[in-house]
Amino acid sequence: MGAKPEELHIVFFPFMAHGHMIPTLDIARLFAARNKVKVTIITTPLNVSTFSKVIQSSKGIEASINIEIFRFPAREAGLAEGLENMEQVMRPEFINKFFKAADLLSEQLEQYLEKVRPNCLVADMFFPWATDCAAKFNIPRLVFHGFSYFSLCAQEIIRLHEPFKNVSSDQQTFLLPSLPHEIQLTGLQISEDLRKSDETEFKRRMDKIKESELESYGVIVNSFYELEPDYANFFRKELGRRSWNIGPVSLSNKSKEESIDEHECLKWLSSKKPNSVIYICFGSTVSFIAPQLHEIAVALEITGQEFIWVVRNNADNIRKNEEWLPPGFEQRTEGKGLIIRGWAPQVLILEHEAIGAFVTHCGWNSTLEGISAGVPMVTWPIFADQFYNEKLVTQILKTGVPVGAKKWSRIPSIEYLINQDAIQKALTEIMVGKEAEERRNRAKKLKEMAWKAVEEGGSSQSEITTLIKELRSYDPFKKNNSMLTV
Ligand code: UDP
Repeated sequence: MGAKPEELHIVFFPFMAHGHMIPTLDIARLFAARNKVKVTIITTPLNVSTFSKVIQSSKGIEASINIEIFRFPAREAGLAEGLENMEQVMRPEFINKFFKAADLLSEQLEQYLEKVRPNCLVADMFFPWATDCAAKFNIPRLVFHGFSYFSLCAQEIIRLHEPFKNVSSDQQTFLLPSLPHEIQLTGLQISEDLRKSDETEFKRRMDKIKESELESYGVIVNSFYELEPDYANFFRKELGRRSWNIGPVSLSNKSKEESIDEHECLKWLSSKKPNSVIYICFGSTVSFIAPQLHEIAVALEITGQEFIWVVRNNADNIRKNEEWLPPGFEQRTEGKGLIIRGWAPQVLILEHEAIGAFVTHCGWNSTLEGISAGVPMVTWPIFADQFYNEKLVTQILKTGVPVGAKKWSRIPSIEYLINQDAIQKALTEIMVGKEAEERRNRAKKLKEMAWKAVEEGGSSQSEITTLIKELRSYDPFKKNNSMLTV
């Protein structure tokens, strides 16, 4: 089980949600591709297939990635057996229990690290105790949040300065102080828990996450320097963190192409003109209520644009068979639009030349996949870090149009429904006219930059080389290995 003496053994421990597991697998591949690096991914039984189906079907370097399985202590945390993925527990009554079960994984991690003694542990932000577990065996722990530099900086500035306290209502905008650009948000656009003055479980968790990040060896960021240089610098120089930007990691993922090349929607896309189809997908966790899906459908039909629309299979409205499509919608849009009920091969769809725009919830993986594919975006943030990513795309990169989302909320509500007019306006703005063309040109330039970053000698490739070199010469007995640089 142990690594050969000359091998560097890196262990990855992603949180149990697709938005965390997918980029971690991509990162693991990047490291496994390097000479004399052994890679292990830790996960729980019901999440193994996310990794194993890619690893087993591959003849390349992925084949050498090991998987270590930890039992998920659902029952001990008061959850039903079989709930092992964040996407299954998005309701408030389940979320805290899910985090509690995740915390109970620390014991298995400690036993594993003691036995195997890897050279480095890359553990998800949601495992704040991982820094201490690793420290017991003098193993450097890196944090992976899955956030952009911009949102890492914005979140920290909000935590430190609490600028939302400077305004009298949660609809009034406030400035995020000290950031390189003038960025404004409203109280409604950040988590309610964050704004509360009393201690909440969420706040305690966030504080623990920050503490463990500060004590860790550093942060791995799925981004590339040229995309957000001001914020990479700000994170390092002003916030004093050590970090390595190694993305976009989805570009390293070649075997996806081998496995789902034949997907029906890709064949359908091939019959379409370049830049003509709008791709709509809200990631792996967001599930809209039926009236919201209805507004999207009406807007799509009115604009007359061609589309691929992904609707999650696990959405409550679909389970309850609620009416969410206007009668006859699919017949009328036949040939013009495709609804995918379930999981779409997103990276491949985005990279198809027929795709002209992406309507996204601004999860960072989706956002970066859109950027890497050179596609302009309609931004529709819902919760987590998504409102920050919207700002990056619309105000700094200037490749997006906001749909006008007003409220941070894990479960989108009827009160903050985005109506068909707003959706239609954003869809038209992103596809038609001179400004749309300029936005598209900017997006294409970002794509070129993204590919350059991951090429031999590119910035992200070089950072991986630097990190590996540093880890090889890591001295566990030197005291100043912590990540603070100021
Ligand atoms: N994804 C996909 N097909 C889908 C939905 C999502 O491949 O039908 C992938 C998407 O490409 C991205 C990830 O799932 O890599 C979603 O991560 P993101 O950070 O965008 O959002 P989250 O799901 O964490 O909210």
